[in-house]
Amino acid sequence: MSDTTRVYSYSAVLMGSPILLKLFSHDEALASRVFRLIKQYEDLLTVNRAQSQVMDINHAAGKHSVSVSGPVYALIKCAKAASTLPDSAFNLAIGPLVKRWRIGFRGDTVPPAQDIARLLALTNPNQVVLNDAEQSVYLALPEMEIDLGAIAKGYIADRVRDYLHQEGVAQGLINLGGNVQTLGSPEGGWSIGLKKPFSTSGSMIGSLEIANKSVVTSGVYERFFEHNGQIYHHILDPRTGYPLNNELDSVTIISEDSIDGDIWTTLMYGMGVEKGCAALRKRPDIEAIFVTKAKEVVLSSSHHYRFTLLDNDYRLTGSTV
Ligand code: AMP
Ligand code: MG
Repeated sequence: MSDTTRVYSYSAVLMGSPILLKLFSHDEALASRVFRLIKQYEDLLTVNRAQSQVMDINHAAGKHSVSVSGPVYALIKCAKAASTLPDSAFNLAIGPLVKRWRIGFRGDTVPPAQDIARLLALTNPNQVVLNDAEQSVYLALPEMEIDLGAIAKGYIADRVRDYLHQEGVAQGLINLGGNVQTLGSPEGGWSIGLKKPFSTSGSMIGSLEIANKSVVTSGVYERFFEHNGQIYHHILDPRTGYPLNNELDSVTIISEDSIDGDIWTTLMYGMGVEKGCAALRKRPDIEAIFVTKAKEVVLSSSHHYRFTLLDNDYRLTGSTV
């Protein structure tokens, strides 16, 4: 194999996830700069530590506004816009509920209903007050908390793509633990596996061939706990305060920008297959793959990728709307 076709893989653990970078050149220094960039964004956006720009906003809830850096402000503005769409399942102010459920962390339990009701009242995205001139964010009620966990990886994956472009890289792939963003089109495109929900051996339901696109998957199997035979997973319904309960095991979005993939996986989770496919008819730039508990794989459309089913337990169907 000549050097021009050889893929070099670099890995790290950041944001609590395994990170994989693929390049067509041997360039440890570039890989280090990419990992440093990811870490810098993580330091700004995390809510899993006492201090970050987002935590500064949370600590000042009900007290005062906090001016933040341009990227953090832009991301919060984008997250608020997605949260205030009609009937949106996405909510950047979901923080108090995420913290209370602790899903996937030690001590996760089903909270008493009165706790959920009390915390729901602290999650109104309209109470996230933005000021463009000051680039500041104010949480109007004490104990409100922003959580960008649903979109931080998508945002960072796009920044890595932009950075690699800027560095003159024509072909590359970054996988931030479920958020894949790609540059260019190696022979036959990039091949991305679609995970089989709850598989412990890393099995794939199928594979996608893509070029210059992002692939984001959000699945109930990623973080969950079981209680009395019921699964409680990490994607919460902002309308009820409980994990979204529907026919879906996972949603994958194929889009240009990974931030869109990250937002739309959550929106699709809220809508389910039928409403989701109907909504996507107006967005030819966003395509979804739904995996249902009944072992169906539903493609809303597939203009920008090719899907191959690899697991005969699953049935492949196109959108019916
Ligand atoms: P993802 O893996 O991209 O689907 O993001 C899941 C994470 O987003 C969770 O671990 C929470 O931190 C956060 N989250 C949970 N429910 C919601 C929601 N309805 N809207 C926005 N963020 C959420
Ligand atoms: Mg997401």
